[in-house]
Formats: sequence, C-alpha cells, structure tokens
Amino acid sequence: MTGSTVGTITGARVAGGGRRLLPTDGAVDVFLADGVIADIAPASVLAPVGEVLRADGAWLIPGLWDHHVHVLQWALAAQREPLGHAHSAAHAARIMADAADQADGRRVGTGFRDALWADVPTLDVLDAATGDIPTYLINADVHSVWLNTAALRREGHEPDGIGILREGPAFEISRRLTDVDVSVGDALVGRMARDAAARGVVGLVDLDMAWNESAWERRLSRGFDALRVEFGIYPEYLDRAIAEGLRTGDPARGAASDLARVGSLKVITDGSLGTRTAACSHAYPGDPHNHGVLAVDPGGLSELMTAATGAGLSCAIHAIGDIANSNALDAYALTGAVGTIEHAQLVAHADIPRFGRLGVGASVQPEHAVDDRDLTDSIWAQQTGQPYPLRALSDTGANLLFGSDAPVSPLDPWAAMAAAIFRTRDDRPAWRPEQRVNPATALAASTHGGSIAAALVEPGAPADLALCERDPTAASERELRSMTVTATLVAGRLTHGS
Ligand SMILES: [Zn+2]
Repeated sequence: MTGSTVGTITGARVAGGGRRLLPTDGAVDVFLADGVIADIAPASVLAPVGEVLRADGAWLIPGLWDHHVHVLQWALAAQREPLGHAHSAAHAARIMADAADQADGRRVGTGFRDALWADVPTLDVLDAATGDIPTYLINADVHSVWLNTAALRREGHEPDGIGILREGPAFEISRRLTDVDVSVGDALVGRMARDAAARGVVGLVDLDMAWNESAWERRLSRGFDALRVEFGIYPEYLDRAIAEGLRTGDPARGAASDLARVGSLKVITDGSLGTRTAACSHAYPGDPHNHGVLAVDPGGLSELMTAATGAGLSCAIHAIGDIANSNALDAYALTGAVGTIEHAQLVAHADIPRFGRLGVGASVQPEHAVDDRDLTDSIWAQQTGQPYPLRALSDTGANLLFGSDAPVSPLDPWAAMAAAIFRTRDDRPAWRPEQRVNPATALAASTHGGSIAAALVEPGAPADLALCERDPTAASERELRSMTVTATLVAGRLTHGS
C-alpha cells in the first residue's frame, strides 16, 4: 500500500501538541483530502472515505523532520567502515587494515573521535597498517580527516608525518569522497530516505556542500518521493543563487514535484569541538594559543547575510564555540536576517536569551550532547559559556529545531528526542540534567516548525503524519530509541507502512 493516498485513518490516538485541539481523549478517525487534514472525529462516528489506514490504537503524531543532514554523506556512510568504537589511533589503523576496498580502490572509514585517545595519530601507524591502499579516516565531526601517505599523494598533499587535514582542506577531501557516480549516489539516497520514512520522518534539511537544486531536480524527476527536502546554499554558490532568483521556500526549478525547496544560506563560521577548532573565549587545554578558528570574520558574515536577506534567502549559520555564537547573534541583530544558528554548542550566558529576543532559531543536535559529554567536561572544562543549553534556550523563548547532522550522528529523530529528554544513552546518569527538555517540547522540536511553531494534528494542517506504537510524550528513553513506526504519510500519501 506504500505510495497510495489515504482518505481516512481510523482508530488513532493523538499524541503531543494536537491533543488539546481534539474533541475527545479517546480514539479518533482522521479524514484527509488534498494533502491536508480535512476533519477529525471520534472513532466510528462518520463513515470512512477513500483508502482506509487502520491505526488500531496507534499514536498519531505530526511527521518528523531532521533539521540538519548532509544527505549524500549520510547515504554514503552506510558503505564506509565505522570507526566510532576505535579507542586509539593504533586501533583505528588496525580497523582500516581489515576494511573492504571500495570500487575505486580506496578505503574510507568514518566516525572516529580522537580527542580522548592516549596516542597521537601518525602517518607511520596508518601506513604500517594500510600500505599502498589510499586510506581515508573521517572524524565523527567531519572537521578533520586522517589520510595515509598513498591517500595524501592521490589528493595532492605532501606527506607531513601526521596525515591529518583540518577544516577547509578536510571539507575538500569530504567533497571529493562524495563525488561518486550519480546513479550510485541517487540509489543510496533513495535507500536512506526509505529508512528515514520508516522512522516517521517526512522531511529534512539537506546541507550537502554542493549546488543542491540540480541534484534534487534530478532525484525528483527520477521518482524520489519519500521525503520533503529544504536544501542549503553555501557561500560559493550565493552569487549564482541570487543571479538565478532562488528564494527560500521556492520549489526546485524543473522538478517533477514540489517536494524539494530552497532552504537557507549556510555559512560555516568556526570549527568543531572534536577537532578543537570551535572558536571559544578560552584556550584549549595544553594549547594556550588555540582559541579555535573563525572561518568567517564578523564583517564578512554580515555581508553574506545582508546579501542573502536582500535576495529573499534565510540564513543557517554554523556556530559551535561561544565566540562564534556571539558573532552570529550580532550579525542577526545587525542585518535583520531571518534564520537559525546551527549547533549552538557553547553559548555565553548573556547570549542565551538573545536567540528568543532576536527570533533566531536554535538548530541543535541533542545526540551530540550525549556523544560529547566527556569531551565537553574535559576540553571545555575551563570555558565560561553554557554547553548544550537546550533547556535554557527553550525557557528564554528560542525556537528549538532538532537534527542529527548525519553522518555525525544517525538520522533518527527518536534518538534526538531521547537525548534531549534524558541526556543519556546508557546507564549513566543524565549529563547536566537541568538542561533536559520536556517530552512535548522535544516532539515539537522534531517537527517542521520547531518547538514554538510546531506542526499539529489538526484540521487544515498538512497530512504529513506518522503512526507510532507508543505515546512519545510518555515513553522511556529506551522506548523512544526503539520506537516502532507503523506508517508515515507525506501529504496524505503513504511513504512507509501499509
Ligand atoms: Zn553539518
């Protein structure tokens, strides 16, 4: 039945924000027409219309969004050697010694976290394990890449004893590694999207570093219809976007449907925590001159945001350290731009209420807080800003928008909700429990509008919906992480389930 258009969902219970709008706390029938919710009535009162989807008491929620995804990188991650469990440089090198070669004769691993390794990555260690096979290890945060001598030569870099590239040169390597045959890439993206739909996802923000409009025009024309997409535009493409008249919210030109739309200008203003390049007010431990890097100075950032705003483009500004967040907020205040700060991982206390005051969305990745708890407590221990201040942002009026930054963490809004509500993933106590958000906020932040302007299950709302086996606002951490989604609909059309 996937692909068919549903007329009536029978016997559903409604979770989260929609409940207060309903005539009953019991089961309801939901009538869909022309891609929107036409009516909601107590179960079995009105005759079903059109194709019927039996909910059998499952919980109906607004369809979920992931507000920060690198689509092709995430799709390709499935083919790469996972390195998240590597506990040292030597261990990571050993894993790559046994990894499978890709079709083009290279090996790619992804997801290592070297900040807490006792040993230092060196070319000798990696070359001894991997020999002449060009081998690439991508950091979990994607802001650094460790290459062996064969890979460095292939990419035109002089071997330097360590083999680690950071920031710009690392992004360039990632870009080349995602430059795969189009039909192979599109097939992987299609599979990724079906997996996302099976988790209740109806849409995502694609921040691949490319001219994304033509990629989505092509995918939609070849039948992609599993998700809505809002694609970002990087500064190197801003002049082209303005010249061609792209505006935020416009559908991709020439596409077979309106599922893919122009998103925001994406600007990366600083580095990351794991690579120790996030721009911070205090130096990194043992490295007294390292305050991170500002990839874009405040003047340059304001110029970019002014140009985007004048052309009708919203902004998505990557800022991880407290200095980068201050600069980004200043630029929003100065330019009147509309948009988000991506990550907001370390925020000065005085800056936290500015998100709400300025109407700047906080596009955050709750799983990173859990992934980075030990790293934050060590290499950011001397910082005065608040790390991962989700609750403080929410309490001061910021619109929270949850995402995964896949491949940095898996594209799974249930994991994001669990991390935001419980701030743990194992049997350890919650990390900085005062920053937990409540379940209704977490669910709202996982919908298109975010915690302040959440999608609701109500008449007139888009029929972007998911049915899940439990009430997500009353589920435990483990229940959230293992949530079964029985059906997902985009504009009333089934993208998952039967
Ligand atoms: Zn990202």
